[in-house]
Amino acid sequence: MGLTGIQIFKLLPKTNCGECGIPTCLAFAMNLASGKAELDSCPYVSDEAREQLSEASAPPIRQVTIGAGERAFRIGGETVMFRHEKTFYNPTGLAAIISSDITPEDLDKKLKEWNAFQYERVGLNLRPELVALKDAGGNGAGFATAAKKIAEESEFGLILMSDHVETIRAGAEASAFKKPLLYAATSGNVEEMGNLAKERGLPLAVKAEGVEALASLTDQLAGMGLKDLVLDSGAREIKQLFEDQVVIRRAPLKAGNRSLGFPTITFPCEMASNLDMETLIASMLIAKYAGIVVLSDFKGENLFPLLLQRLNLFTDPQRPMTVTQGIYEIGAPDENSPVCVTTNFSLTYFIVSGEIEASRVPCWLLIMDTEGLSVMTSWAAGKFSGDAVGMFIKKCGITDKIAHKSVIIPGYAASISGEMEEELPGWDVVIGPRDASLLPKFLKDRAK
Ligand code: SF4
Repeated sequence: MGLTGIQIFKLLPKTNCGECGIPTCLAFAMNLASGKAELDSCPYVSDEAREQLSEASAPPIRQVTIGAGERAFRIGGETVMFRHEKTFYNPTGLAAIISSDITPEDLDKKLKEWNAFQYERVGLNLRPELVALKDAGGNGAGFATAAKKIAEESEFGLILMSDHVETIRAGAEASAFKKPLLYAATSGNVEEMGNLAKERGLPLAVKAEGVEALASLTDQLAGMGLKDLVLDSGAREIKQLFEDQVVIRRAPLKAGNRSLGFPTITFPCEMASNLDMETLIASMLIAKYAGIVVLSDFKGENLFPLLLQRLNLFTDPQRPMTVTQGIYEIGAPDENSPVCVTTNFSLTYFIVSGEIEASRVPCWLLIMDTEGLSVMTSWAAGKFSGDAVGMFIKKCGITDKIAHKSVIIPGYAASISGEMEEELPGWDVVIGPRDASLLPKFLKDRAK
């Protein structure tokens, strides 16, 4: 059971220094107890207290890492039922399945094809993360060869799937450096699979028929010292799986049941006869708590909507997406190129930069930090005021790059032009269009 806020408070320094971003130790303790703060935010916790607190303040659903290095992928670690209560942290992993009897040539082709599914969106690289290698018939050597090839030659994390412990062992030995997820411990092999995962330090999926049976297996594995578990309730029918997913999320969060406090793995690939239906099921599972969804294949038209859905669900609703403040060059601008300024709300940046690119007029785009607020909102909040924008233009370094003194401001912020001219004596403050879609014509007309 986790500690209460008062129990946590007794272990804190009680200096109310505020360095954790919260004014008092008591408030910090309360936030820690409810999963709204991280223990690492307080730099003054003693080692002894840290030991006691780290277990108590761990997220009710364990964070499990699959893979190693730069492309290590984390699932679980969630603290709320609904995104609006705080945020969801670790996006659902998207996996596609490969049978171990695939030829090396076909495997190469598949991995290249899947690896090409990468999309740039709001400055992020969206892509699937995992390949599930499924044993095609207990051929340990063939399974190990395919596991090695995927681990060594692709950027995908790996899930090793077999009913035979020795086959999984062969695959794990060939790909252990990539920290694959082993699938799965069942009531029939729990000790052997538990020992294998423990020996190798690998995460382990646990499969049972129903949630209760699952909890008893995870208790057994926890007793063996295993912590990184991933749950499969065995359901392959939509209604039952949906129910299981909700029960597995609720149990640790609402009832403190640590036996079910692990992320889940789900298999739309075993629940539908075509990829479109699998995609619909996957979409439900991304919204309803799956740690991993395994599809039968990746196709752009199925994958892209899932990636976007996932992006939308796994962004912090209390923190707008931003781009870094600075000078952005669009189309190789020179000292005579126009200068535009706008805010660092990422959507604003991507729309404005896209329209400038479309105009084919090389520009300097100045992005000012307004804490992720759009032009209208930041202007209303006083963050995009004339003196603030003027000060930013003076300090950002654009004056070293241009031979003129003219800046284009968004039409919605027209009222700041006077203040800006006071802050920037000798500058010409030009009011741009209100709608970014009119920028190409505006820039082309000015270029003439
Ligand atoms: S940083 Fe630590 S000591 Fe300071 S107020 Fe926060 S919890 Fe208390």
